[in-house]
Amino acid sequence: MNKIVIISAPSGSGKSTLIGKLMAIKELRLEFSVSATTRAPRGQEVDGKDYYFLTVSDFKQRIDADQFVEYEQVYEGRYYGTLRSELERIFAKGNNIIFDVDVEGGINLKKKFGDDAISVFIQPPSVEELRRRLVGRGTDSIEEIDKRVSKAAQEMQRAPMFDHVVVNDDLEKAFAEFSGIIGGFLK
Ligand code: ADP
Ligand code: 5GP
Repeated sequence: MNKIVIISAPSGSGKSTLIGKLMAIKELRLEFSVSATTRAPRGQEVDGKDYYFLTVSDFKQRIDADQFVEYEQVYEGRYYGTLRSELERIFAKGNNIIFDVDVEGGINLKKKFGDDAISVFIQPPSVEELRRRLVGRGTDSIEEIDKRVSKAAQEMQRAPMFDHVVVNDDLEKAFAEFSGIIGGFLK
C-alpha cells in the first residue's frame, strides 16, 4: 500500500527546505505531489515540477469538472489544489506521496486518508523569525510577505490538529526529528 505524508506550515517556516532534504533519502520512495496554483512562478520554479501553473479560469474549470482531491483559496485570489491525476500518477509507480499543502488542506487530506497518512506541522520559532526568513528568501514582495505573516498566527492555532509538530529552529535538529518521524511511519 502506498503511504501518504502530509506537511503543512505557515509560509516561510522552512517546509520546502525540510522536504527537499527528506526527498534526498531515496529509500523512502517519496514522490512530491505537484499541486496546481494560480500564482506566478517565482525564482527558479519550473512548471510541472514545482507546480502546475494555471490561469484562474483554467483552475475554475477544473473545479467544476471535479478534477481536484482538495483545493483552497489560500490567499485572496490565489488558488492551490491537488489534482486527482497527480495521485494516480504517483501511486501507479508504487511510490509514497508527499504533500506540501496549506494548513486547511493538510487537515482535510488527513481526514480523507486516515491511517494511510501521517500529518506533520512545521512550526517556526516565532512570527518575527518567520518574517525574517521570508525577507531573507527574497522571493516575495513586501505586500505578499505581509499577507503570509498575518495568516501565520491563525495557522499556528491549528497545529494540534496534526499528528506531529516539529519546531524548525535549528535546521539540523529539526531535520533529525522530522526524518525520524516520517522514516518510522514509512517503515
Ligand atoms: P516554506 O517552504 O515553509 O515557505 P522555505 O523552506 O522556503 O519555507 O524557508 C524559508 C527561508 O528560511 C529560506 O530562505 C530558508 O533557507 C530559510 N530557512 C529554512 N529553515 C531555516 C532554519 N532552521 N533557520 C534559518 N533559516 C531557515
Ligand atoms: P507558496 O505560494 O509559498 O508556494 O505556497 C503557499 C501555500 O499554499 C503553502 O502553505 C503551500 O503549502 C500551500 N499549497 C501548495 N499547494 C497546495 C495544495 O495543493 N492545496 C492546498 N490546500 N494548499 C497548497
